Amino acid sequence: MLAWLAGFLAVPTHAQTNLWPLAKDAAAAHRFSVLFTAQDVLHCLSTEAGLDAAVAWCQTSGITHVFLEAFRDDYQAERATLLRARERFQTAGFLVSGCVTTTLLGKPSSGWGPLVCCYTDLPTQAKLQAVFEYAASLFDEIMIDDFYFCDCKCPECDAARLARRVTIGDKTYPVEGDSWSDYHCALMVHLSQDRVLAAAKKINPKVRLIIKYPQWYDMYQVRGYDVGRETAAFDRTWAGAETRDYTNVWHWGGTVQYEGYFLTRWLGEVGGEKCGGGWFDWLGTTEPNYVEQARQTILAGAPETMLFCYGGLNPSAQSIYPASIPWPTPTGQADMAALRANLPELLATAREVRRRHPVGIAAYKPINSGGGSEMRIFDFLGMMGLPLAPCHQFPTNAPAAFFSVHAFDDPNATAEINDYIKTGRPVLLTKILAQLLSPRLNLPAPNVRIVSMPEPLDSLLVLPQAQCDQLRGPLLDALHVTFQAPDQVALYLFSPDGWVVENFNTEAVKVILNGQSLSIPARGWLCHWN
Ligand SMILES: [Zn+2]
Repeated sequence: MLAWLAGFLAVPTHAQTNLWPLAKDAAAAHRFSVLFTAQDVLHCLSTEAGLDAAVAWCQTSGITHVFLEAFRDDYQAERATLLRARERFQTAGFLVSGCVTTTLLGKPSSGWGPLVCCYTDLPTQAKLQAVFEYAASLFDEIMIDDFYFCDCKCPECDAARLARRVTIGDKTYPVEGDSWSDYHCALMVHLSQDRVLAAAKKINPKVRLIIKYPQWYDMYQVRGYDVGRETAAFDRTWAGAETRDYTNVWHWGGTVQYEGYFLTRWLGEVGGEKCGGGWFDWLGTTEPNYVEQARQTILAGAPETMLFCYGGLNPSAQSIYPASIPWPTPTGQADMAALRANLPELLATAREVRRRHPVGIAAYKPINSGGGSEMRIFDFLGMMGLPLAPCHQFPTNAPAAFFSVHAFDDPNATAEINDYIKTGRPVLLTKILAQLLSPRLNLPAPNVRIVSMPEPLDSLLVLPQAQCDQLRGPLLDALHVTFQAPDQVALYLFSPDGWVVENFNTEAVKVILNGQSLSIPARGWLCHWN
C-alpha cells in the first residue's frame, strides 16, 4: 500500500528537489508545459540572455514542453525570433509547439468584440487563414487559445442565420436550423475545416491543430463551440481547467475547484486519446487554489498541464501584457513557488492515476446541453463529495446515475432513464428534470430519489454534514463505498484500488471512508493506491 498525506506543510521538504530530471522521467505519465505569448516572445525571447533565462526558468520549474505563440492581439511574432527560440529550446531538450490566439484579428464581434471576431466577415476569414498558414510554416503542432468562437449578431451574421447558410470564402454550406446556436456552431466548424485545418495542412502536411475549449462548458453551444463536430474535425483537444479563486469577486471568481476535474474528465470522455491536457493560469488565484487547479487536472487523467503564461508566472522576465490579459494579478511568482514545491507529489499522483480508470456516479451531460437553471450543477455536487464519472453518452451500464436538466437535451432521455430505473440501480434526479419529463417517468420507483436544488447553487457548499451524508449514501452503496464527510470534501475513486480525498475547506477535517477514520489537512489531500 502506498499512501501519502499532503498539505502546504510539505513545502520545505520538496523545495530542494531538482525538478528537471524528475519531470523528464515522469513525462510519459504527465508533462508540464508553459505558453510564451506572442508578447512574451517579443519581450523575453528576442535576446540570447532572455532565451537563457527562459530555458533556466523552465528547467527549474519542471517544465519540459513550451508553446511559442505566433499571434495574439493583432501582433504577429517575428519569424527569426520564433525560429531561434524553437531551436534553443529543442537543443536544450524541450518539446516545442506553436500557439495562435485569435484576438483583435479582424472585424469585432457585436458580442465579445473586439477580442472576439465576426467570422461571417470574409476579410476576417482571410486574415485568420494567413495567421494559421504562418504558424504552420513554423511548427508541427499549434494550440488555439479559447477566444476562437463567434457570438456576433451583426446584420451580416443575422442575414446569414436567417438564410440558414454559412459562407466560407467562395463556398456555401447549409445550416440545419435558424437559431443563433445553429448558425454560430456551423460557422465555426466550416471555418475550422476550410480556413484553419485545410489551410495549415497545405503549408505543413505534418501539422496537428489543437482546439482548446474554454472553462465555461455549459455555454459552448451558445458561442459556436460544437464540441462534437469540432473534436471530430481537430487533431487534438485541450480543456480549460482555470477555476481560479471562488471567493475573488474582482478577478473571475465564483467557479468551484471541482469544475477543473469535471470538465477535463468530460472532455477526456468526448475526445478520448485526442484530449491532450488541461490549461490553467495564475489570474485571480491564491497559492492553494493554484495548486488545486493542478490536482484537479491530474486527477482527471490529463496527460499534460499547460501553464499560462511565462510573462505572468515569472514577473522578473518583465514581459508586457496585451489587451487580452486585461487584469493581471501579481500572484504568478508565488503560485509557481507553490507548484514547484508540490510537483514531485503531483507527478507521482499522475503516474498512479494514469494506470487506472476513474469510477463513480455517472454525471450525464450530452454534447451541446446547457443545463438551464442547473448550469454547472456537476461542479457543486462534486464539491459535496459525490464521486462523479462525467459522460456525454447515456450511461446505460453505470452503477449509479445522476440526471439534471442537461439530460433534457437528449431526445431519448425519457425512455433511457425509464430503462435505467428498471435495473433497480440508484438514480438521483433533480426536481426540475423530473417535472420536465413527468408524467412519462417512473418516478415512484423505490430506487429513484428526487432532489430540489437551491437557487443559487452556492448554498450547496454550506450544507450540514448529515445532509451530505444522506444524499451520498444510497448512490455510494452501489459503488460499495461508504463516506461520511463535511461539505467541500471531494472524493475520487479509481479502479483498480485507488482513491483520493481532497479537502477544500480552510480548516482540517475528519472523514470516515469505508469505516476508516482519516484526517485531511486544510486545502490538503490524501491519496491511497494499492
Ligand atoms: Zn457578425
